[in-house]
Amino acid sequence: MNGRSKIKMAVLGGGPREKDLLKDFVDLGLELVFYGSPPFSIEGIVVVDSLESLLKGASILFVPSSGFDDDGRLREPFDESLIFKEDFFSVVEKGAILFLGYAKNPLKKRLQEESISYIEYLHHEEVATLNAIPTAEGAIQLALEGLSTTIHGTKTLVLGLGRVGLALSRRLMALHASIIGVNRSKEGLFKGVEMGLSVIPLEEMESYLGDVDLLFNTIPALVLDSHRLHLIRREALLFDLASAPGGIDFKRARDLHLKASLCPGLPGRLFPERGASILRETLPSIIEREVIHRGGDMDGG
Ligand code: NAP
Repeated sequence: MNGRSKIKMAVLGGGPREKDLLKDFVDLGLELVFYGSPPFSIEGIVVVDSLESLLKGASILFVPSSGFDDDGRLREPFDESLIFKEDFFSVVEKGAILFLGYAKNPLKKRLQEESISYIEYLHHEEVATLNAIPTAEGAIQLALEGLSTTIHGTKTLVLGLGRVGLALSRRLMALHASIIGVNRSKEGLFKGVEMGLSVIPLEEMESYLGDVDLLFNTIPALVLDSHRLHLIRREALLFDLASAPGGIDFKRARDLHLKASLCPGLPGRLFPERGASILRETLPSIIEREVIHRGGDMDGG
C-alpha cells in the first residue's frame, strides 16, 4: 500500500468457505487479524489472544456471510466468547467499518447508537445482482421438489420484480410456467413488460390469488397478510425468498394449513461453491473502492 502501514482487518469468524476470500484480502494488502481458532490457516495472518488485541487499530471488521443469530452470536465464530454485545462495542475503534452480510433492524439500531458505520455486502448491488442467479435456480429447485407436476403450465405468481424476482421470472418463463409478475413500482412492472412477462400492480394481486398453484415472494414486507392468505388454496405452494421480516404471515399460514416455506440463504445453502466464488468476485474490489480508497486516512495498526 505505497509504503504506508497496512490497513488492519479484524476477522470475526468464518468457515472453510471463507478461506480463499480471506487470502484475497491478504493479497489486497490488508493485515488480517484473527482471534480464536480458525478452521484453516492462511499465510501472513496474525492470531491474537484477546478481543482488545483483535479490535485495537482495526479499520475494518469482517463478518462472514453466515452472520449472527438473534442473540448477537456469530454462527461461525473463531472463538465462542465473541459476542456482539457491550464488551464488543466498547473496544471497537472510532471510525471502524463493520463489513457484514446483512443486519437485522435491532442490530442496525444498535450500530447507529454506537456510531459504527457498516456495509451490508449481501445487499450491495454487485453482490445482489450475481446472487439473484443461484437464488432463482434454488427457488426453482425447491419448487420442483415440492410439486407433483411440471412447472410447465403451472399458474405462478412472482411477488416483487427486483433483481431476484426478475431473474426468477425469466427462468420460469423459459420453463413455460403460466406466470404473472406483481410489483409496487412502475419501474419494476416495466422491466417485466420489457422481457415479455405478464404483470400486474401489487394492489391487484388479490384477484389472482385464488387460482395460483405456485407463489414466490421476494418482497421484504408483509404482503401476504391474513386477508390475502385466506384467498389461497391449500394445494398451492408458497415460497418466501425475502429477507426478514419476509412477506408471509407464517403463523396465519400454518393456521390455514397452507404449504408455506421460508427459504433464506439459498446461494450459500444450495450452491456453496458458487456462493463463495461470488463473494470472491465482488468483495475485494468493493473493499478497495469503498473502504480503502474512500478512507485515505484509514491506516490502522
Ligand atoms: P431488490 O432488487 O431491491 O427488489 C426488492 C423488491 O421488493 C422490489 O420489487 C421492490 O418493489 C419490492 N419491495 C420492497 N419493499 C417493498 C414494500 N414495502 N412494499 C412493496 N414492495 C416492496 O431486492 P432483490 O435483490 O430482488 O432481493 C429481494 C429479497 O430477497 C430481499 O429481501 C433480499 O434480501 C432477498 N434475498 C434472498 C435470498 C435467499 O436466498 N432467500 C437471496 C438473495 C436475496 P419496488 O420496485 O416497488 O421498489
